[in-house]
Amino acid sequence: MGKGDEVIIPAYTYAATANVVVHTGAKPVMVDINVSDFNINTEAVRKAITAKTKVIMPVDIGGFPCDYKALMEMVQSEEVKAKFRANTEEQKMLGRILVFADAAHSFGARLSGKVSGSFADVSGFSFHAVKNLTTAEGGALAFNLPEPFDHEEIYKQLNIKSLHGQTKDALAKSQVGNWKYDIVEAGYKCNMTDIQAAIGLTELHRYDTESLPRRKAIFDLYDRGFENDERFIRPVHTTEEKTSSYHLYSLRIAGATEDQRDEIIQHIFEAGVSVNVHFVPLPLFTFYKSMGYDIGDYPNAYSQFSKVISLPVYFDLTDAQVAQVIDAVKSATAKVLSR
Ligand SMILES: *Cc1c(COP(=O)(O)O)cnc(C)c1O
Repeated sequence: MGKGDEVIIPAYTYAATANVVVHTGAKPVMVDINVSDFNINTEAVRKAITAKTKVIMPVDIGGFPCDYKALMEMVQSEEVKAKFRANTEEQKMLGRILVFADAAHSFGARLSGKVSGSFADVSGFSFHAVKNLTTAEGGALAFNLPEPFDHEEIYKQLNIKSLHGQTKDALAKSQVGNWKYDIVEAGYKCNMTDIQAAIGLTELHRYDTESLPRRKAIFDLYDRGFENDERFIRPVHTTEEKTSSYHLYSLRIAGATEDQRDEIIQHIFEAGVSVNVHFVPLPLFTFYKSMGYDIGDYPNAYSQFSKVISLPVYFDLTDAQVAQVIDAVKSATAKVLSR
């Protein structure tokens, strides 16, 4: 991708989703999200497709999978394929828009029996310290491209790109008769270190048996704490088709304005509980405003943002602490909304 190309992304996401598009020279085309969950709206995506669209980047906000079935059907439909203009060899080979999942939140999530990483053509996971599975910093890419793409070859190319364009890593070079190497491009230095990988392997080993079940248990406690209380809208995390990775418990305060939500957060912090907001829609930030994006074009993103508070979810959070969070949220809400 490059100048003249367009990538469709949700307005409601972390900055990384848009920034990687900007780095390529392509234009991020932001669209609005759903009101039922926090994910990209499929119909808004359909309307945003032009002859310049090369990629759609859905984001599994909070770990809840996007509507990949509809998105994959859309890019594979004759109507949408007819609009597609390929410029590069890879684009010609694919012959349609690529769906690249920003799966930074959804490691371990499921959709119709499949796991995150296999929903889209390519999926990007983040292993940053705040994510479900961490290597302190780092991530992974999962490829699921159709024939005739060669995944093994892509893996080799990415290893070269992420290590100074060098054809062998230090371990390979240390083997008998193997010290010679080549530099085939001006590569980057963004390979995962062995230390990070060691952390990741340990985290991976306990993910299904410890980390994910504990997150689910915390979600269940929050669900019970906020049910039957009209002031609160609990996040969707499980449907017949979809199961979240329980990354963010995004509670919404029904009817709250942005100012009231901010005030509620202040009271929660004062009660000794650290909460957060995921996410400030990108059009509210200086950089994207300067690129011409206007929050007025994304009413759902703004409305979700103005009501949302992310509650703490992490392995070591105890049941007693969860109860303390629920109390803090309820009394802060009562203070602000009863006035
Ligand atoms: C964390 C995050 C990323 C980026 O992850 P890094 O590992 O920091 O590069 C991308 N998208 C979303 C939605 C995120 O929350």
